[in-house]
Amino acid sequence: MLGKFFDRFLGCWHRHYSFPITIRSGSRRIQAASLTGTYVVCLDCGKELPYDWQEMRVIATPEERREYLRSLAAKEAA
Ligand SMILES: [Zn+2]
Repeated sequence: MLGKFFDRFLGCWHRHYSFPITIRSGSRRIQAASLTGTYVVCLDCGKELPYDWQEMRVIATPEERREYLRSLAAKEAA
């Protein structure tokens, strides 16, 4: 119950992921990859999460997602 609650609001809090998988652009089959084109699978809960190759980190929480989008906007503005 509590796990589901945290899952919904904080995303995945595990830190045990598969190697990042990059998909071809245009593929919409994997929702997690639509953000960065790359995703990892959590080996603890099976959740698919976007992965930021440039920062070498998993985007696991809504806060990290916002951070990623902010850095994207900053790069485009530069
Ligand atoms: Zn997990």
